[in-house]
Amino acid sequence: MTFESGKHGSADYPHALTLQADACVIGAGAGGSAAALALAERGLRVVLLEEGQHLKPSDFKPESGHALTQLYQGRGARSVRGNVVMLLPGGRGVGGSTLINSAICFRTPPEVLALWRDEHGCNELTDARFEGYFDRLWSTLGVSVNPVAVQRNNNLIFKEGAEKLGLDGAFLARNAPGCVGCGICQYGCPSGGKSSVDRTLLVEALESGNLGIYADCRASGVETDGDRIVAVTGQTMDPVTQKPIGTVRVEAAHFVLSGGPIGSPMFLLSNGLADNTHCGRHLVVHPTAPVLARFEQEIRPWSGVTQGYYVDRWKEGFLLQTYTVTPDQYYMTLPSGIGAESLHIMKNLKHLASAGALVHDEDSEGRVRMTPAGPDLYYHFGDGDKQRLIDGLRLTAEVFFAAGATEVYPGRVGAPTIHSPEQIAAALPYDVPASHLFMYASHPMGTCRMGDDPSRSVVDPQGRVWGWSNLRVADASVFPTSLGVNPQITTMAMGLMVGESIASA
Ligand SMILES: Cc1cc2nc3c(=O)[nH]c(=O)nc-3n(C[C@H](O)[C@H](O)[C@H](O)COP(=O)(O)OP(=O)(O)OC[C@H]3O[C@@H](n4cnc5c(N)ncnc54)[C@H](O)[C@@H]3O)c2cc1C
Ligand code: SF4
Repeated sequence: MTFESGKHGSADYPHALTLQADACVIGAGAGGSAAALALAERGLRVVLLEEGQHLKPSDFKPESGHALTQLYQGRGARSVRGNVVMLLPGGRGVGGSTLINSAICFRTPPEVLALWRDEHGCNELTDARFEGYFDRLWSTLGVSVNPVAVQRNNNLIFKEGAEKLGLDGAFLARNAPGCVGCGICQYGCPSGGKSSVDRTLLVEALESGNLGIYADCRASGVETDGDRIVAVTGQTMDPVTQKPIGTVRVEAAHFVLSGGPIGSPMFLLSNGLADNTHCGRHLVVHPTAPVLARFEQEIRPWSGVTQGYYVDRWKEGFLLQTYTVTPDQYYMTLPSGIGAESLHIMKNLKHLASAGALVHDEDSEGRVRMTPAGPDLYYHFGDGDKQRLIDGLRLTAEVFFAAGATEVYPGRVGAPTIHSPEQIAAALPYDVPASHLFMYASHPMGTCRMGDDPSRSVVDPQGRVWGWSNLRVADASVFPTSLGVNPQITTMAMGLMVGESIASA
């Protein structure tokens, strides 16, 4: 089979699938879909390989087991260890992590772009160029603030508290123009109201007639000639069992690796395309921790926009963001563990509200390492970042009390229930061991960092892997540092930049 535009899945494939194209993109998440769009609209024939399935809104169900096994890397169990242990989820399927994300959209802070230019030599990343990408993405993804009617109490109560304290807060801009506020973004959007990249960037790219999306295809190997990649090889997968059922080989002039910040360094390392001096290192993740609060009135936290409101403390190194999870996940973050107290809180779930702090990791760092059993992820949470996280959790608790909370439960093992603002600092001391915080992160970044110096980076300022003339990386792994804001828009902008730079070379 040669290249055919359109959507393809394992049911259509011969046992040995062979394809030829101008460009092959590996991974159909935020970065890969944007790169595929930039290439296809400039007339290159693009094969997009994705190990997960094509999914549609009716495939998404509000069931943890279904979502974790079908939509998540490592069936939802991917986690980092170090001085903290935390889940580090990522998406799997055409759309990547945008299938399961909360649709929050932030433009890259100009201070971050300036740092990347000044300290890492990323001179392609000009403010003007990125502003152009952001404007395009705002329009293509339908980024907007959802109406108050779908925000509902969990977001509105936090807004009320933040306003009473005079904090700088706002409803979050989201790429979910049709959101109906069902609160289960992390299980996939069953209403189709979220504009994940499979429903936006890839639809535009398909319209060019130059894109073939090959789902259920996992890339694992390469054939090389000198400094060029000649072909990528891999396996076709059964979408349900996720076991190999055949082979795939794609010949192309250009290759773009967009397997995400865990998948991309794993691919480079396992194929000897980069060594581990920097590849797989410098992992940053935007660690978060939760705070729950009890109110006399009903909040019904499961109803409304999953993450709708935030407080901006970016200059202090953190943001506060509301969130909604399923009851089992609420239970896991209660400080009192198993027992009557936790059961009592759960019985009153409809009176709980939830929000958390997200930290711009500055003195923390991790790495991705290849082992025979798969990726081994390590992360050391620095003391400065821990202090910023505690500051964020304390402020979250203050916001809840300002909004009228009667009790606050901070995300710390064994923390006492907080009954008044005066008790907040004692319940969240700065010297709490990092491992006692209920931490979670869903924004891996930085493991194939970009720069103009091959001794300090993995890819050059146009995303080309040092040492390989036709292999680039376009995903969140190329960020030279963490951002401090949710990263999907920056990732898409990077994808557009990398695709554009190939087409215009
Ligand atoms: C639960 C959750 C909530 C989030 N919420 C937000 C939010 O609200 N706002 C925001 O800005 N960001 C959010 N993020 C983060 C954001 O979605 C990611 O930063 C972004 O999608 C990263 O894009 P990427 O291209 O690097 O990787 P991904 O989008 O993860 O895509 C990588 C793709 O590559 C595929 N792949 C990997 N290896 C291979 C291989 N060898 N062969 C074939 N395919 C492969 C994977 O299956 C996956 O589909 C969230 C993430 C998660 C997990
Ligand atoms: S909260 Fe909105 S965007 Fe999220 S899954 Fe529900 S309808 Fe979709």
